[in-house]
Amino acid sequence: MAYDFDLFVVGGGSGGIAAASRAAGHGARVALAEADRLGGTCVNRGCVPKKLMVYAARFSDQFTAAASYGWQVEQSTFHWPTLRAAIAQETERLNGVYQAMLDDAGVALFPHYARFVDGHTLAVGDRTVTAAKILIAVGGRPKLPGNIPGIEHAITSDDIFHLPQQPRRLVIIGGGYIGSEFACILNGLGTEVIQIIRADRVLRGFDDDLRCEIHGAMQQRGIKIIAHSESIAIAPAEAGVTVTVTTPHGQDTLLCDAVNLAATGRIPNLEGLGLERIGVQLKEGAIAVDAQQRTSVSHIFAVGDVTEHPSLTPVALREGRQFADAEFGPTPVPINYDAIPSAVFTTPEMSTVGLTEVEAQTKFGPGDVQIYRTHFRPLHNTLSNLETKALVKLVVQTSTDRVLGAHMVGDHAAEIMQGIAIALTMGATKADFDVTVAIHPSIAEEFVGLE
Ligand code: NDP
Repeated sequence: MAYDFDLFVVGGGSGGIAAASRAAGHGARVALAEADRLGGTCVNRGCVPKKLMVYAARFSDQFTAAASYGWQVEQSTFHWPTLRAAIAQETERLNGVYQAMLDDAGVALFPHYARFVDGHTLAVGDRTVTAAKILIAVGGRPKLPGNIPGIEHAITSDDIFHLPQQPRRLVIIGGGYIGSEFACILNGLGTEVIQIIRADRVLRGFDDDLRCEIHGAMQQRGIKIIAHSESIAIAPAEAGVTVTVTTPHGQDTLLCDAVNLAATGRIPNLEGLGLERIGVQLKEGAIAVDAQQRTSVSHIFAVGDVTEHPSLTPVALREGRQFADAEFGPTPVPINYDAIPSAVFTTPEMSTVGLTEVEAQTKFGPGDVQIYRTHFRPLHNTLSNLETKALVKLVVQTSTDRVLGAHMVGDHAAEIMQGIAIALTMGATKADFDVTVAIHPSIAEEFVGLE
């Protein structure tokens, strides 16, 4: 049977666009459906606008440090609407870049939602199209917990970029990536921030040394963290919203502006896709795929946040390109999910690749794991009044000398970890790190010659 397209991609985020343009480059006839702006979460309400806000928030530290370096800085003030407008403008520019990328590749764009009619047919706007292969790349969306009464009064990270005014007092629910990053952003911009978390420390799942360091640094910077929360209730009040939190130590009622941010995880965007009509199987609410991104239906594939894989833009990009190469081009290099670096853009910043200390001990036994770490005040902060310290840590397998994990907290942690991730992907040993000549003075040099 002749299909309208060789490939139909549902979703115009990082993974979908990467796959569509790569497949078209291999000569496939490709179409893509995206009802919203091109670029997905990363460009429109995630990584990019968030990082621009991180840059804005970190000026406050620079103003504090400047005087120690001989600069006279006038009283600084921050204007939220200016930042919001600048971010919106940059987002729009990037939407255009993605549009040009699809146009150049010859991908047909359908500016509509698509839903499955049958295994090879999709309803897109008022049309029906058929394709030999279909890629689901619809991403995820914020998950609002059902166990918090009044949660409808909370905003999510999707909304924060559009607030007309900066919140004066913000309660954040959640201690993960998004909650912790926005706690630091808003704190840096001058908002009073209270963060409610269920665990003892922020960022559950990361190496415990890093969690301790970030937790302490956030508190030192004035963020009030309420840990061990057992229950939360939100209610509208005359002057905003009240958030009542119960912990083993008692109950606290907090008043915030008419905003409080729920950053309580994300879920795949599967509603309305019609997956039930075609028999694509799910695993814990996400689309289950094999190493080739194939779903339980052999000509239907999925990449990015809609799958069970880590919800990170570079993962979606790699998966999209790998899928396109495998199906329409040369044999791709498989993705190594064991060495995926990531960063949390808190202030201070943290980044990580490979196993945590606990994960390494569980996998190889405590006797076969050696830890190297250093905790110090970076040179930049010695002259300034900034108290923030840096932490550098390596997790090494004793029997093989292989570096299993690298972790750091400090300025430019993300930039530094990208290079370290190359070393770990290549299977570097502690001896390889030690023979590498340092760059001095830097924070990164601490990774070589750790004792
Ligand atoms: P996370 O899974 O990282 O964190 C969710 C947080 O919400 C946890 O602290 C969790 O607590 C808490 N939580 C969950 N349910 C409830 C509830 N019912 N009541 C109270 N608290 C609750 O999700 P995020 O939303 O922060 O981020 C989603 C994903 O987006 C991340 O996993 C990451 O992959 C991606 N991301 C990556 C970024 C980066 O690379 N820099 C930045 C932002 C997002 P507990 O720990 O107790 O379960």
